[in-house]
Amino acid sequence: MNHTEEHSGRQGSSGELHRDPIAAIEVYIVDLRQDKPYLGSLRDGETVNESGYFVRRENRTVYPRANRSLVIRAVTEDGVEGWGETYGLVAPKATAEIINDLLAGFVIGRNPMDRETLHDELYDLMRVRGYTGGFYLDALAGIDIALWDISGKQSGESVSQLLGGGVRESIPAYVSGLPEDTLGARCDLADAWRKRGFDSFKFAMPVADEGPVRELEALRARLGDDARIATDLHWTYSKTEAVELARQLAPHRPWFLEAPLPTEDIEGLSWVAKNSGQTIAVGEEWRTVYDARLRIDREAAHIVQPEMGHTGITQFMRIGRYAESHHLRIIPHATIGAGIFLAASLQATATLQSAISHEFQHSILEPFRHFTSNVLNCENGAYSLPQTPGIGVEPSDAMRAAMRRIE
Ligand code: MG
Repeated sequence: MNHTEEHSGRQGSSGELHRDPIAAIEVYIVDLRQDKPYLGSLRDGETVNESGYFVRRENRTVYPRANRSLVIRAVTEDGVEGWGETYGLVAPKATAEIINDLLAGFVIGRNPMDRETLHDELYDLMRVRGYTGGFYLDALAGIDIALWDISGKQSGESVSQLLGGGVRESIPAYVSGLPEDTLGARCDLADAWRKRGFDSFKFAMPVADEGPVRELEALRARLGDDARIATDLHWTYSKTEAVELARQLAPHRPWFLEAPLPTEDIEGLSWVAKNSGQTIAVGEEWRTVYDARLRIDREAAHIVQPEMGHTGITQFMRIGRYAESHHLRIIPHATIGAGIFLAASLQATATLQSAISHEFQHSILEPFRHFTSNVLNCENGAYSLPQTPGIGVEPSDAMRAAMRRIE
């Protein structure tokens, strides 16, 4: 690491600004295979196709049977490594090809300290063709995280320090998803986490087999009056259905209702936010602050949930600051990943005064916690924040053994 301190990107003793440009970008698929599918066993009528995908009937969403993620390694001419990660769940080679064929060529030779300028240049490249979201911005997010990681290592600071300084060293977390087959077993699982010091939970409507009202009622009875219990509605209701559901859930005091309407129905969401009497949380599918503006300006969200795997650090912070300027709460989303973008998310979240909690995907993080060098501990209801320079984690030997290069 010594050479990184000498070549910090700041002015050296000669007065020259040292540049240590990006020399290479590499993309890897990381195998996160598990016995049980994400959100729990397949329900009746849910079958895995020849490509390894299945569709959850209740939310009509595709999932891979074998979880995976995309990890990006960027390295400078002086050998400073930066790590990024983005969504690899579906068609991961599409995102990898965007990086290998297109984006890498515009990043190699550039100064990683110019990370936000580079982000905006790469975003601009494809706007005229309509690529203002989706796989293109996932690819950009992965590169963005790697550049921030290098910037931190070059300057000897954590990403939260680079972003202006953390307001906290541990981040409150909520237990997300209860991947068991019966309501009784899901209550048992939530209660086991309560006994481990967690007071906040979220269940997923697509696997709440007896419906979200019965699910919340049972969890409330089991976890007690003080527990915070949210429900993820997976974009499935109409605006009038959502308000009726909110009325039925109200006696059991939900913490928040997540993603009640299809993401395209912004006016409907605004109507639900104003008429349901409940706290509405959205944001995991957003890529940019422009997605956030469309909802926040219409008062369609009370809680904003940026997902680092889609936004990268640059857009995550723009969304976070925009939410803060509207006095909204932030509870970042945490998707299936190998720990790299989660570490980046914790670094960014630590700097946001309005971030009151962070999702904890225990069914992914716990079995793969040995995939990162500094383990991302989430215990007694909170994550602890790695303090080493950059995002604070590197792939461990176990992750490297699960990584396959895509060229
Ligand atoms: Mg969700």
